[in-house]
Parts: sequence; C-alpha cells; structure tokens
Amino acid sequence: MKYIFVTGGVVSSLGKGLTAAALGALLELRGLKVRMQKFDPYLNVDPGTMSPFQHGEVYVTDDGAETDLDLGHYERFTSGKLSRANSVSSGKIYESVLAKERRGDYLGVTVQVIPHVTNEIKERIVKGGEGVDVLITELGGTTGDIEGLPFLEALRQFQLDQGRDNVCFVHCALVPYIRAAGELKTKPAQQSTAKLREIGIQPDILVCRTERPLTLEMRQKMSLYCNVPVSAVVECRDVPFSIYELPLMLASEHLDNEVIKSLHLENHPHIRHRNLLQWKDIVRKLKYPAHHVKIGVVGKYIELQDAYKSIYEAITHGGIANDCGVEIKRIDSEELTEQNIESLKDLDGVLVPGGFGDRGIDGKIAAARYARENGLPYFGICLGMQIAVIEYARHVLGLEDATSTEFNPETKNPVVDIMEEQKQIVNKGASMRLGTYDCSLAAGSNAQAAYGEENISERHRHRYEYNNKYRDALVAAGLKVAGTNPTLDLVEIVEAENHPWYVGVQFHPEFKSKPSAPHPLFAAFIKAAIERQGRRSAAK
Ligand code: GLN
Repeated sequence: MKYIFVTGGVVSSLGKGLTAAALGALLELRGLKVRMQKFDPYLNVDPGTMSPFQHGEVYVTDDGAETDLDLGHYERFTSGKLSRANSVSSGKIYESVLAKERRGDYLGVTVQVIPHVTNEIKERIVKGGEGVDVLITELGGTTGDIEGLPFLEALRQFQLDQGRDNVCFVHCALVPYIRAAGELKTKPAQQSTAKLREIGIQPDILVCRTERPLTLEMRQKMSLYCNVPVSAVVECRDVPFSIYELPLMLASEHLDNEVIKSLHLENHPHIRHRNLLQWKDIVRKLKYPAHHVKIGVVGKYIELQDAYKSIYEAITHGGIANDCGVEIKRIDSEELTEQNIESLKDLDGVLVPGGFGDRGIDGKIAAARYARENGLPYFGICLGMQIAVIEYARHVLGLEDATSTEFNPETKNPVVDIMEEQKQIVNKGASMRLGTYDCSLAAGSNAQAAYGEENISERHRHRYEYNNKYRDALVAAGLKVAGTNPTLDLVEIVEAENHPWYVGVQFHPEFKSKPSAPHPLFAAFIKAAIERQGRRSAAK
C-alpha cells in the first residue's frame, strides 16, 4: 500500500485539489487502483452548514456525506467511488476523540493532540485507503496555518511508521511573476518548503504553480534550496482551455513518473501512453466541437466561482456527449423579473440549480415560466424542480399563492412541503435527505429516454418535497410525474407536457457526471438545446 500526501504553500486557490485529482487520473492510467481523500483543518464537522460564500459548493457522496468540493474533482477525474471516509475535517477528528474520552476509552491518561489527535488522523488515513493500491490525501489550507499543524504532524509520523518508500509528499507552491522585476520568484516556494521541513516533512516533489515557463536555471535553484531532485520540480501553468487538460500537462512534466520513482511502483509506460489518448480525446472534443449552444444558469450565487461547480462541469460534459461547445451565461436570479425576462431569448436552454432560502426565488420562477411558455429547454435541479412545480401551480393551475413552506410557512397552497420526519429535527447538521435513493422512471418520459433504463439511483440533499396532495391536479394540468421513489412514493422527476424538454429533478445528477461518462440527463438537455437552436434557425 502506497500513500501520497498533497500539501499547499504560499497561498490558497493554487488548484491543489485539481492537481491531486489529475495525479489520481494519471496513476489510474497506469492500471493502479487509486483512491482520493481530503483533510480539512476547519472545526466544522462537515461543510454542510457553511454558506457557499464560505465554502463554494457542498459535494454529496453516495453514502450521503456532505463534503468539500474537491471530492467532486476527485470523482470526475478518477473512477473510484468516494464515501464519508474520504472527507475528514478537524471537527470530525475532535468529535471522535472527545466521544472516546467521554466513553472512557483513554481512561487514566491525559488526552493530547499528540498522540491522541494524531493517532485518530493516522487511523483515518489507513481506513481511507482500504482496498486500493494508492491513496492520495490532500491537506486543505496552506502550510503555516495553525489549524493544519496536527495534520502535518500526523503525516510526518505516518511516513516514519510506513517507511519512506511507501509515502510520497507532493508540495504545491506558488511561483509568482513580479512584473516590476520582470521575473518569476522562487523565494515563496523555498520558504513554504522550509516551513514543511521545520515540521520534519521533506517534500519529494515540488509542483510549481506559475503563469510563465520555468527555466532550467530556476528548476536547479529550487532543487538546491528545496532539497528535491531537478526532475521533481514540476511546472504547473494555468491550463488555457479546460481543467481537463491538466492530466496531459502534468504528464508532459512527468509528475506521475516522479511519483512512481519515489514510491518504487512498477512503471507501465505502454499502458500509460495508450490510456492518455482517452484524455486527449476529451480535450479535442472540448476544443473543436461541431455545435455551439448557450445555456443560462439562473442562481443567486452566480458571482461566486465555486458555488455551482459540479453543475458547470456537468453542463460541459453534456456538451462533450453531443460534440458541442457550451457557453454558460450566469444569470443572477435577483436581477431577473417578468419585465426583463426577454433577456433569456438568446439562450438555447435554461438551468435552475439547487439552493436554499427565499432570496431570488421570483427570478427563478420567472425563468421557469419563460422556458415553459417559449419551448425553451428547461432543466430544474433540486430547488429548480421545486420552482417548476410552484410555477406550474401558480400559472397553469391558477393557485396564485402556491409556494414552498420553505419560503412561506403559512401558505394556503404548499405545493412543496417539508417532510414529516424533517419536522422533528432540531440539529441542522447532516439532517437533510442525503445520499443515494432509488427512483423508478415512467415509460415514455424524457427522463426515461435519456437514461435508457427503468430504475436509477441518484444523490439527494434537501429537506422539502413535492407535495403529493397536489399530484392529481398537477398531473391533470400537464405536469407529468416522470420518476418516483419506489418505497416512499415521493415524486422525484416532473416533466411538462407539450414541451420539447422541460424536466425537473429532485436529486442532484451533476454529482455523478464525469468528462469520460457524461450524465445522461445533462447529455439529453444539451441535445435538446441543439435541437431548439436548429428549429429556430430553420424558422428564420
Ligand atoms: N431548499 C430546498 C430543500 O431543502 C432545495 C435544496 C436544494 O436545492 N439542494 O428542499
């Protein structure tokens, strides 16, 4: 069993998660069984209670863990399925240490960061890697952060326990370009490496995030000061076109070869070469697509880069499936009104993603209405599905005050309502309907056509549900039920009749989409957008 630890220095947002994920992809290409794991030094037990402003998207795994968005990158770049064991925060570590202390597991001793907290961390590493050849663990935050110290200490001990040949440290650091000096500076990378060495960790590989190419001289300098071989100084430039170029770029810098060397793993150059073509093909499809569509995403966190990460990625994958480039137009739902709704007319499709709270709801309802009335493909996800139900109830059934009890607990027409079991909940953390649930698809529906299957399972993260009391009326009015949960009889998918593609899903399909395996609903949505474009240009 081999372990790789990825740390970051100088600043955050270095793309450490993507680097780790791309490394995972490269090792998989050599036929190794890889799993990825994230350590987050914050004290929240999980990111489920943090706002997208704090944290970006909350990614949900099959087993219902609310995790860091880096796990989304891991699942998109590698084939390994992740679970709650692969997302560990300080909060989770301390929660477990304190529970053991109360239970009396440590009876008689003083409970301390070393060894009790560090042992707990080391146990999580071992557990996270069960059943694979290589575990890649990314440590969140930046070296030098106080919160990160117990983790780094545990990683140091871990290498001592497992032996140098079994543990490889990859350090990502910024090599900034200073315009006034007209050159790249290696000092920050040197200092953050020094910080690691102070703790007793000597990185084996240095990944340098930089805007400009590293010269041989600079590589030599960093090799000398950071104590890594020149060949292990890896340049990582911004990928010009798509994040899916990253495995190719890092392969050309031989990042995986360095890891193989450091861990004494078997080299499989032929397999690697053949399998790299897979990524080349993905990138080619992204760069030179046959079609182009414009998709509007109507959300309230539109200005944030990371709030709808998996949605944006899954839309891109839907494009890959259709040989189609997708331009994503981010639309702030708070700015959208019935008056300026015509601004959607250039779009080929509109998507309303998940969300919480009543801010921006009216704009989303207006978008859903416009899409429905104008034959514009509509894809509603989680909240976006609830919006479709509210819109339909209001404007087709004529229930003017129809809404979700999330937005108005007193409404006379709660077409979306909180589930009975959710009413008892006092603690907000990890208490939603979370993780994978089964869904049976209705024959002849767009959803069934997309999946090509009758029974599917998808991941959930919500508290409110379609209210079955309105089911007969909504169905009679044309909002068909295309998917239901077979045991709970909850409505999971709705579709508007007499519309080319108007689909709302209560679950989050975006979490299961990969560039190598685009999600069927996203593929079908983009296909519908291409067809709509075709109809429109034919009409012109
Ligand atoms: N706020 C809604 C609910 O809790 C939708 C959640 C979501 O979109 N993820 O049901």
